[in-house]
Amino acid sequence: MRMPPFELLMPTSLEQALTLAGDFIAAGEEFDWIAGGTDLIPNYKWHLNSKAHVISLAKVAEMSELSSTHIGGMVRLHDLAESNITHPLLKEAAGSIASVMIRRSGTVGGNICLDTRCYWFNQTEDWRESIEWCHKCECGTDADCRVIANQNTLCVATYQADLAPAFLCLNATIHLASSKGKREMLLSDFFELDGMTRNVLQPGELVTHITLPSESSELTGCYHKLTLRDSWDFPEAGIAAAWKLSGEQISTLKIASTGLESIPRVHDDEVAAVLPDWSGKESIESLSEALRKSIKPVNNTGLKPNYRRKMVKVLARRCLNQILHK
Ligand SMILES: Cc1cc2nc3c(=O)[nH]c(=O)nc-3n(C[C@H](O)[C@H](O)[C@H](O)COP(=O)(O)OP(=O)(O)OC[C@H]3O[C@@H](n4cnc5c(N)ncnc54)[C@H](O)[C@@H]3O)c2cc1C
Ligand code: SF4
Repeated sequence: MRMPPFELLMPTSLEQALTLAGDFIAAGEEFDWIAGGTDLIPNYKWHLNSKAHVISLAKVAEMSELSSTHIGGMVRLHDLAESNITHPLLKEAAGSIASVMIRRSGTVGGNICLDTRCYWFNQTEDWRESIEWCHKCECGTDADCRVIANQNTLCVATYQADLAPAFLCLNATIHLASSKGKREMLLSDFFELDGMTRNVLQPGELVTHITLPSESSELTGCYHKLTLRDSWDFPEAGIAAAWKLSGEQISTLKIASTGLESIPRVHDDEVAAVLPDWSGKESIESLSEALRKSIKPVNNTGLKPNYRRKMVKVLARRCLNQILHK
């Protein structure tokens, strides 16, 4: 697989990176950010929507800051997983990603902004040509979506990154910057229901860092994921939960999912329906069933949607059972 040629730029500060990006936008030219490159480079090798210019964030030191409430976009997954000051739920989710080698290169920003995946898309160019392409990389042919046919507007590729549900359960805020300025929002408002646009990032905008509210340290959490292989793999389903107990009562409970739909999702409605009358095992059973019903995977990853949906219930039960054992 031959990599398409591209120009690589290596700014040494955030300001320089944003100026370079602003210049490309003004000139009407497309580019990609690259962080660890563990996803972008394989996609480029498969000629998946590659660009003529790539701006590396590797030398932007101000994006590598890590504290208990501030996680820079360029913090490596390995450093997050091994840190003594990181919330245990984030450590657990980061430690479940790929392998040590990939975690040493892969970053928090790259994980949050990971491209959505689909087995009609994550294939070689020859393979995709043989099925006459698909909407997400249609090579000028106006090809349809292979999963939901005859619509040609929406891509339902699956979001399969592990960190988002952990951050969502901890009520994280995401911080963005471009040459036009900075903005921030709850992470739950960052993702967009289209496998092509994926999130609210505008051209030339990047993720500088993620912050956690100080109260997040009071939450206990856990993360369970379903994978094809135990050694390393993308989540085919992932459920994170975080809770706070006041005596025997649960005063806060957050649940979020990944690997099942085009966006990672917080499940506040399902939690709100059971929390007021929480009764331990019975409530865990009905909440796990409610999650299974609300999540609707499509047929575009390694495992079948029905099985992934059944496993939502199992993973949710595994997470929630830990509340009983604290
Ligand atoms: C064998 C293998 C197994 C894997 N297993 C898993 C897994 O189990 N779980 C999982 O979650 N992932 C997995 N991955 C995917 C990937 O390695 C990780 O998600 C990693 O965190 C991506 O980070 P990166 O820095 O390498 O991203 P890159 O490849 O550099 O970038 C990924 C995307 O994010 C964009 N981007 C990067 N940084 C920023 C930023 N700061 N602001 C805006 N956009 C940005 C890039 O433009 C690109 O679109 C796996 C990959 C491989 C090759
Ligand atoms: S969901 Fe449809 S448009 Fe998106 S990558 Fe898969 S086949 Fe292509």
